[in-house]
Amino acid sequence: MSKDHSIKILYFIILAVVLGAIAGWTMGEDALMFSWMGELFLNALKMILVPLIVSAIITGMTSLGDIRQMGKPGAITIGFFGTMMVMASFVGIIVTLFIDPGANFQMSAMTTEGIPEARATVADVLMGLISPNIVGSAANMELLQLVVFSVIFGAALTVVGETGKVVINFFEGLNNVMMIIVGWIMYLSPFGIFALVALPIAQAGGGAAVLDGFSAVGGYVLAVSIGLIVQGAFMFLVMKVITGKGIGYIKDVLPAVLTAWSTSSSSATMPACLEYTQAHGLKKSATRFVIPLGSTIHMNGSAVYQTAAAIFLAQVYGITLGFDDYLTIMLLAVLAAFGSAGIPQGGYLMTLMIMSVIGIPVEGFGLILAVDWFLDRAHTTLNVWGDLIAAAVVDKYIDD
Ligand code: ASP
Repeated sequence: MSKDHSIKILYFIILAVVLGAIAGWTMGEDALMFSWMGELFLNALKMILVPLIVSAIITGMTSLGDIRQMGKPGAITIGFFGTMMVMASFVGIIVTLFIDPGANFQMSAMTTEGIPEARATVADVLMGLISPNIVGSAANMELLQLVVFSVIFGAALTVVGETGKVVINFFEGLNNVMMIIVGWIMYLSPFGIFALVALPIAQAGGGAAVLDGFSAVGGYVLAVSIGLIVQGAFMFLVMKVITGKGIGYIKDVLPAVLTAWSTSSSSATMPACLEYTQAHGLKKSATRFVIPLGSTIHMNGSAVYQTAAAIFLAQVYGITLGFDDYLTIMLLAVLAAFGSAGIPQGGYLMTLMIMSVIGIPVEGFGLILAVDWFLDRAHTTLNVWGDLIAAAVVDKYIDD
């Protein structure tokens, strides 16, 4: 897609976000009639996800050269992801301690309805990396397992020599075809985004009902929101210092940021991230490597939110946390964010894991369930923001 087209789509997407919010706010449940448009858009994105992720990672890796030369971009990518997620969780701790939203809290808003019995454990996160059946993982959209497999496959392909060329060409062609389809889907995105913005507000019963839900846990919503803004601004500064890129880059990739807000899913936003970072002019090798990997494991927003949720609920229950507890929450939040699926509320079970390790009653999550859809949008947006920034940073260190 050309830059001209992406700017035009951006204007339509901004209009769609505004109209969607107005429709959900004022029409209440009547706005549910638009839900099919959102579902159609999401289905179109999901339809291409598996071949796109696999082909992007494999061609991204093979275009970086031999596995032995991949050390530098690989280390920069993983180092950047890890540092930013530790930072995100640190920001979550500081902001929640500072705002102290759990002080003088009324327990009356609590509902335990809908909290699943299943709890993720640290072992589950690690076991979730390796697929016992890669075809089954593709069918079930177990994207983390597909990413791990694609990285191993791509690495092996760089050392196989002459016979690997035909395989590389196949995946190169597959990726080009998928990107054409992504471009077509992007033309549909304003309609889908309109519906996806209206829908949760409509489901909550319109604007007044949303505000009611927020008022009970306003301090917590504020803490997460400020944490996300601080972390987002910090990452922007890091990008500015390292690459010199600033507002111009953000404007070019803004359609992907708004897609994240409306879909609440890093995975569903992955095609848009590839499209707009490449339209901006980032190197294909950088984007193909960083974006699919980032959309699956690099979740700054989830780390801020999971940390803030755990600390807020500890405050509500009057549980005093010591330095060790904060350190544990920080490490678990990084692991939890890494293991969270890039789907709507994919980090939810992981938050329960952190709570149970620290000894915070998991029923407490019922207090924040009513606002979880909204904060999910907000932290998914930061998750994607982080991937877009990581792509710009890694791009600087890769020769095409
Ligand atoms: N919804 C988030 C995402 O897709 C994951 C999460 O719930 O933390 O990035």
